[in-house]
Amino acid sequence: MAQSEQRVKSDRAFFLDRDGVLVEDVDLLTEASQIRIIPGVVEALQVIHEHGYLSVVVTNQTVVSRGLIDEAELGVLHGHLRDQLVQAGAPPVSAFYVCPHHPHADVAQYRVDCACRKPKPGLLERASDEMGIDLSTSFMVGDRLSDVAAGTSAGCTTALVESGAHRAPPIVGMPSDPPTPDHRFPDLREAVHSLLRGQS
Ligand SMILES: [Mg+2]
Ligand SMILES: [Zn+2]
Repeated sequence: MAQSEQRVKSDRAFFLDRDGVLVEDVDLLTEASQIRIIPGVVEALQVIHEHGYLSVVVTNQTVVSRGLIDEAELGVLHGHLRDQLVQAGAPPVSAFYVCPHHPHADVAQYRVDCACRKPKPGLLERASDEMGIDLSTSFMVGDRLSDVAAGTSAGCTTALVESGAHRAPPIVGMPSDPPTPDHRFPDLREAVHSLLRGQS
C-alpha cells in the first residue's frame, strides 16, 4: 500500500513522534516483532480522525544512519505499524516522515547536518508543503524536548507526553535553552482528549 493512499482532505494535523508516543521506545526498533503499541493509541487516532485532523508521524531514525536497516526496510516496518494499528481499529496513519540523518552517522551518505532532524522543524515543514497542512492550527506531540522544539519552531501547539523518553538525556543537537512545552500529558490518549475538548 502506498504510504500516501489514505490521505484525507484536511488542513490541520497532529504531528506524532513514533517511539515513546505511538509505540514503546525499545531503543533500536528494526523488526516488526518489536512493535508494541502503547495503550490508548488506537483510541487517540480515532479521536484525531473524528475531529478532522490528519495524523502525521515525524520520526528521527538513527537505525538508518547506523546502517542497521535501510530506508526501504524502514518503509516496510512502518507499513507493519500502520497495519497493526488498523487491525486494532484505528484509522490509517495519514503519512510517515522520517529523518534518516545523524551528524555522527556510521553510513557516510547520512552523515550530514540536515534540516529535518528534530529538534529542527524540517519534517513538519515538508509535510506542510506536501500535504497542505496549516502548521499554526496543528499540534506536535512527542516524548522528548527535541519534539517540542521542532513543533515550536514550526509554529505548532506542542505537548510533551510521559509515555517514553521524557526523562532521558537530550539528543545530539539540542539547543542549550530548550523550549517549554505548551502542555504536558501522561500519554497520547490524554493529550488528544484534552487538546480537542470542546472542538466538534
Ligand atoms: Mg520519542
Ligand atoms: Zn534529516
